[in-house]
Amino acid sequence: MQPQKYEPVTITWAKDHCTGIEIHCMKCAYMEIVGFDGYGDSETIPDLPKSRTYRCPRCGSTEIQTRPRYPQAQGT
Ligand SMILES: [Zn+2]
Repeated sequence: MQPQKYEPVTITWAKDHCTGIEIHCMKCAYMEIVGFDGYGDSETIPDLPKSRTYRCPRCGSTEIQTRPRYPQAQGT
Protein backbone atom coordinates (compact mmCIF):
# COMPACT_ATOMS: atom_id res chain seq x y z
CA MET A 1 0.00 0.00 0.00
CA GLN A 2 1.22 3.45 -0.88
CA PRO A 3 1.25 6.08 1.82
CA GLN A 4 -1.41 8.65 1.08
CA LYS A 5 -0.25 12.10 0.19
CA TYR A 6 -3.42 13.58 1.49
CA GLU A 7 -4.32 12.53 4.99
CA PRO A 8 -7.97 12.88 5.85
CA VAL A 9 -8.45 15.15 8.82
CA THR A 10 -9.32 13.25 11.96
CA ILE A 11 -11.30 14.64 14.87
CA THR A 12 -8.16 14.53 17.02
CA TRP A 13 -6.23 16.64 14.53
CA ALA A 14 -9.14 18.96 13.98
CA LYS A 15 -9.48 19.65 17.70
CA ASP A 16 -5.99 21.15 17.63
CA HIS A 17 -6.15 22.97 14.32
CA CYS A 18 -9.75 23.71 13.54
CA THR A 19 -12.60 25.54 15.18
CA GLY A 20 -15.33 23.11 14.27
CA ILE A 21 -16.91 21.03 11.53
CA GLU A 22 -18.65 22.60 8.57
CA ILE A 23 -21.72 20.75 7.42
CA HIS A 24 -22.51 21.70 3.84
CA CYS A 25 -25.68 20.92 1.95
CA MET A 26 -24.85 20.12 -1.66
CA LYS A 27 -28.36 20.97 -2.81
CA CYS A 28 -29.01 24.44 -1.46
CA ALA A 29 -25.60 25.59 -0.16
CA TYR A 30 -26.80 25.73 3.42
CA MET A 31 -23.84 25.61 5.81
CA GLU A 32 -23.72 25.04 9.52
CA ILE A 33 -20.77 24.80 11.90
CA VAL A 34 -20.85 22.30 14.72
CA GLY A 35 -18.43 21.42 17.49
CA PHE A 36 -16.60 18.15 18.04
CA ASP A 37 -18.90 16.75 20.72
CA GLY A 38 -20.28 13.36 19.86
CA TYR A 39 -17.61 12.45 17.34
CA GLY A 40 -14.96 9.78 17.91
CA ASP A 41 -11.34 10.95 17.95
CA SER A 42 -10.30 8.60 15.14
CA GLU A 43 -13.19 9.48 12.81
CA THR A 44 -12.20 11.40 9.72
CA ILE A 45 -14.20 14.49 8.93
CA PRO A 46 -14.88 13.83 5.23
CA ASP A 47 -16.26 10.40 6.15
CA LEU A 48 -18.72 11.57 8.79
CA PRO A 49 -21.71 11.50 6.40
CA LYS A 50 -20.97 7.81 5.73
CA SER A 51 -21.38 6.80 9.35
CA ARG A 52 -24.34 9.02 10.21
CA THR A 53 -27.13 10.70 8.38
CA TYR A 54 -27.34 14.44 8.21
CA ARG A 55 -30.38 16.19 6.90
CA CYS A 56 -30.34 19.77 5.71
CA PRO A 57 -32.67 21.81 7.91
CA ARG A 58 -33.46 24.12 5.00
CA CYS A 59 -34.23 21.79 2.08
CA GLY A 60 -34.30 18.35 3.70
CA SER A 61 -31.58 16.95 1.45
CA THR A 62 -29.27 14.26 2.77
CA GLU A 63 -26.59 15.17 0.21
CA ILE A 64 -24.23 16.52 2.82
CA GLN A 65 -20.51 17.11 2.90
CA THR A 66 -18.49 17.70 6.04
CA ARG A 67 -15.29 19.71 6.10
CA PRO A 68 -12.96 20.95 8.79
CA ARG A 69 -13.50 24.58 9.73
CA TYR A 70 -10.16 26.35 9.80
CA PRO A 71 -9.69 29.48 11.85
CA GLN A 72 -9.68 32.50 9.61
CA ALA A 73 -8.54 36.00 10.25
CA GLN A 74 -11.68 38.03 10.63
CA GLY A 75 -11.84 41.32 8.82
CA THR A 76 -12.85 44.23 10.96
ZN1 LIG B 1 -30.19 22.10 1.74
